[in-house]
Amino acid sequence: MSTARRKRPIACHHGPTNTYVLRTPIGDMDLETCPKGIHSLQQVQEIDDSTFKVDMSIEVSLKSQLYQDNGYVYKSVLMCIQWLNTYFHNKTEAPAQTRPNICFVHTKKGSFTEKVWRILADEISFARIVSYGQLATMCGNVNTARAVGHTLKMNPIQLIIPCHRVIRQTGQLGEYCGGRRNLVKKWLLNHEGVAVL
Ligand SMILES: [Zn+2]
Repeated sequence: MSTARRKRPIACHHGPTNTYVLRTPIGDMDLETCPKGIHSLQQVQEIDDSTFKVDMSIEVSLKSQLYQDNGYVYKSVLMCIQWLNTYFHNKTEAPAQTRPNICFVHTKKGSFTEKVWRILADEISFARIVSYGQLATMCGNVNTARAVGHTLKMNPIQLIIPCHRVIRQTGQLGEYCGGRRNLVKKWLLNHEGVAVL
């Protein structure tokens, strides 16, 4: 009898997920996708304000993947790599580029959270900034600035859902990743040409 292969967990109804590590100028990033799109994209856990380093000579590329799949890589991963390369290395084309597909698996369909994430991803493009209050208004209710702030803390998809572009009404930066990565937020906005306090 042959050894039964360990079954891979299916994390959403579109099919099995795979987890990848990408090399990027702002350090390694963990990426999880299903056949439909991205579930999450985050700088690896060890990166915070004390360990954050930038190396702009790095082209974004695939470093490793959890399940080998005979070398097969989901299309949304390839789209993500291309998107990130444009984000870091081609500021002329970055504002108009089409974002990779997202599978909004971390929130309920039609929820307020999904609305906030979608509006950010679709409307707040490269070098644009909004305040928590403005984003609340864009989501249809000016009184939800605090709730908007809460949903941003849970953002699973760094950069593509650009919560770093949401700042305080006063022009102050506000926190990134619960305050662990404020330097990253500042660097990203500077990279996009936004002057911040
Ligand atoms: Zn999915």
